Amino acid sequence: MTNPVEQNMYYGEFGGQYVPANIKVALNKVAAAYLKYRDDPEFNNELAGLLKDYSGRATPLYYATALTNYLGGAKVYLKREDLNHLGAHKLNNVLGQILIAKRMGKTRIIAETGAGQHGVATAAAAARFGLKCEIYMGAVDCERQKLNIFRMNLLGATVHPVQSGTRTLKDAVSAALDDYAHHLDDTFYIVGSAVGPYPYPQMVRHFQSIIGRETKQQVLAKEGRLPDAVIAYVGGGSNAIGSFAEFINSSGVRLIGAEAAGKGADTPDNAATMTNGRVGISDGMRSYVLMDDHDHVQPAYSISAGLDYPGVGPEHSYLKDTHRAEYYAITDDEAVRAFQLLSRLEGIIPTLESSHAIAQAVKMVPGMAKDQVVVVTVSGRGDKDVNQVADYLGVQVD
Ligand SMILES: *Cc1c(COP(=O)(O)O)cnc(C)c1O
Repeated sequence: MTNPVEQNMYYGEFGGQYVPANIKVALNKVAAAYLKYRDDPEFNNELAGLLKDYSGRATPLYYATALTNYLGGAKVYLKREDLNHLGAHKLNNVLGQILIAKRMGKTRIIAETGAGQHGVATAAAAARFGLKCEIYMGAVDCERQKLNIFRMNLLGATVHPVQSGTRTLKDAVSAALDDYAHHLDDTFYIVGSAVGPYPYPQMVRHFQSIIGRETKQQVLAKEGRLPDAVIAYVGGGSNAIGSFAEFINSSGVRLIGAEAAGKGADTPDNAATMTNGRVGISDGMRSYVLMDDHDHVQPAYSISAGLDYPGVGPEHSYLKDTHRAEYYAITDDEAVRAFQLLSRLEGIIPTLESSHAIAQAVKMVPGMAKDQVVVVTVSGRGDKDVNQVADYLGVQVD
């Protein structure tokens, strides 16, 4: 006897709502508001207007001719999420959630952030709507990303450095949840990826699925058919699930996620949750998680701050177990080479995150036929990563 709300919470055995009872009550109010407004024409008109005129959607689907010729296999198209306002796909989700917050009468927005990208997007949207905004960020990440703290401050947000645990993203999530538990009446928690307790994985997927909906229209217009594969980077999994959602029921479209293997999936320094994780409960959901032999969540490593998340969204765990999607681990080295390759060949500097997806295309595409079509989601622009890449390559830039 599963009730419908409960059924909605799960993807197979994954997902759920592993949080204290008072937070459950608050989250179910968020879920009710989300389910009400997602089909509300007035809500969707306001969101569509913001996505168009504030964020700059629709983003182009770009035929990467030089990369295609270089790889010598399938035609490669890039879905240009890097061309959104703030340089990534994050705002698609933040704008959707903030419109729900406003309709619920909330006056205060909180969020967690790793490298700072989600914090900046949330601060921008909160500024746009005149809402008070507080961001939790691990103290180590604060030290590494001072410029993003300044950006959030410019946008009117307060940033709280989190001093507990490893002082990174995982601890920022705990601190944000703790804040939420103490301010359930006036506060809306904007989660940055398709992770966490219900309704976040479903809601974030919904707002990010614009990526795949546009891709489908654009690829049909350009090629007259669906792609053979869609490739996206999987951190928490929001740009990937947004890229996949429209194609999940089209069995001819391979769905491919690229995750961060760091120094190697078989070394201690990796963030390859789908390759190395075990099923467990973390951040309010059941999903694959990187754990040590004592079932403790293990800190993740990757070249880029913000890619070092030890969990993954529950729908990806389900898509992996049901074999609907495939997940491959890409090392720092492979990602940096793809970062350089796309910059040289196409004049597009992708983020290190997206470079993992490009690297996966570099591996696969040469083995495909020339009349096949692959779409790679470029989740963001790489300006934020150039220092890190210079450092990795041993180039002195300051
Ligand atoms: C945050 C971020 C990611 C990782 O988040 P997902 O939820 O896995 O999409 C990937 N790319 C960029 C550019 C980001 O800012």
